Amino acid sequence: MKKYQMFVNGKWVDAKSGKTMKVINPGNEEVAAEVPAADVEDVREAVKAARNAFDSGIWSRLEQKKRSELMLRVVDGLIAKQNELAELESLSSGATLRKSTMIDAPLAVEHFRHFAELAYKKDLYEPLPWINFPSVSWNFVVREPIGVAGQIIPWNFPLLMAVWKIAPALAAGNCVILKPASYTPLTALELAKIIEEAGIPAGVVNVVTGSGGIVGEELASNPMVDKVALTGSTVVGRRVMELASKTVKKVTLELGGKSANIILADAIIDEAVDGALFGTFLHAGQVCESGTRLLVDEKIYDKFMDKLIARAKGIKVGYQMDYETTMGPVVSATQRETVEGYIKAGLDEKAKLVIGGKRPADMKKGFFVEPTIFVDVKNSMKIAQEEIFGPVLAVIKFKTVEEAIKIANDSMYGLAGGVWSTDLPRAIEVAKAIRTGTVWINDYHLINAIAPFGGYKQSGIGRELGAYGFDEYTQAKHIHVAVAPRKAKFWYDLLLD
Ligand code: NAP
Ligand code: MG
Repeated sequence: MKKYQMFVNGKWVDAKSGKTMKVINPGNEEVAAEVPAADVEDVREAVKAARNAFDSGIWSRLEQKKRSELMLRVVDGLIAKQNELAELESLSSGATLRKSTMIDAPLAVEHFRHFAELAYKKDLYEPLPWINFPSVSWNFVVREPIGVAGQIIPWNFPLLMAVWKIAPALAAGNCVILKPASYTPLTALELAKIIEEAGIPAGVVNVVTGSGGIVGEELASNPMVDKVALTGSTVVGRRVMELASKTVKKVTLELGGKSANIILADAIIDEAVDGALFGTFLHAGQVCESGTRLLVDEKIYDKFMDKLIARAKGIKVGYQMDYETTMGPVVSATQRETVEGYIKAGLDEKAKLVIGGKRPADMKKGFFVEPTIFVDVKNSMKIAQEEIFGPVLAVIKFKTVEEAIKIANDSMYGLAGGVWSTDLPRAIEVAKAIRTGTVWINDYHLINAIAPFGGYKQSGIGRELGAYGFDEYTQAKHIHVAVAPRKAKFWYDLLLD
């Protein structure tokens, strides 16, 4: 079993208390590794390191080109270790090796590169139009880093979420303390190693492992932290916001979802079927933007559902490290219990279970749940309102497009959604009527480094990725340069007549 240390102020250290926590492989329930379990004292040291690094200007005032060059070295490191990272990601998070090699590792490279390039290309001076009244002045906005960012990430995409947090913050000149999820801290620690090897100065990036209640809460409360960014559940989002309010920190929250995937009557059925399954069962449903409410037009319902069920039976549940496996376990025993609780709730509320609902009989070890589909679901049911974060699809039949939009919007969440139709102008109208941060038309889950990602309503605050994600780590400072100051003299005369 490998023993990891955490990365604080450029050094690899244990928790001061010596406490550790175990990382379990969710596919066989064996201990995969051990990491430090930090206390508040350890977090404070990391915050101090980030604060000193930021205030020294070693990173925050470094030329954009130099920042970019160092970040591009991280990209080289990620490329060199891609296979190793994919394997470790799968081992500790339960992601299938197929997904970690085709999605997690390559996207980590691409998204880090996006921000490494933006670090250089992003214009930090934005001109404003000339102002002529009351004085003639030249005005511009300077984008400055916010300072020290505390960043808290979940267990579903551990490496990619670490990149989504660290890369934009660094690109804009901030220093960070990242707290990975307790189930999945390993690839974030490997990323810290790559960052160290790339020559990013000590203290600029710190990775502290430990529980959310201790490490996360300290990051959200510590007065030396200027911004806190969380990807996680809405419940924890509320808590982080509450703690951050005491020192009025900037906050970015990427929270839960219960997205609607809408199949209109003129959709290409075979494509929509695959899109509906991919949109729900990718990573055993542990994806925040999953289209877990499937809204199907009654005109095509029977034909669509026959195909959907037949195709769903082809999903191969198994050990995540076998390349033939297309759906692995959920992350933990607790998460499996949560999912099973929702399956029971679906049955109690008289939704009709058409496939799945159980643990696969042939998997004796590991936290597996079969792909599960409920039909005859009403949007008011618990399985349609609450985020399950497991392989459970709720299918709802609709009569009119207006009704579908109404159902889609009847949710406290607003993260994403899908529309399947061959009538693109109409599909775009539907996309605009859905109150969420992302809508895919005739696709699902396709996230791109240049496009903003984030939620409406209780799915969050702020955006990640693209120039939008970069701006979330900057302050906009207005500088006013008087060119003909005496013209404004009558304003000064109010006081100095
Ligand atoms: P979670 O319980 O909210 O945990 C997320 C992170 O917050 C973890 O690092 C966790 O640490 C930490 N945390 C827990 N309690 C905390 C507290 N009181 N103060 C500060 N930090 C705390 O979520 P999860 O169970 O890991 O992940 C599933 C949820 O994340 C789902 O609801 C999903 O929708 C959401 N999610 C959203 C997005 C998005 O982009 N919108 C992406 C992925 C996941 P520990 O691991 O130590 O508990
Ligand atoms: Mg949790």
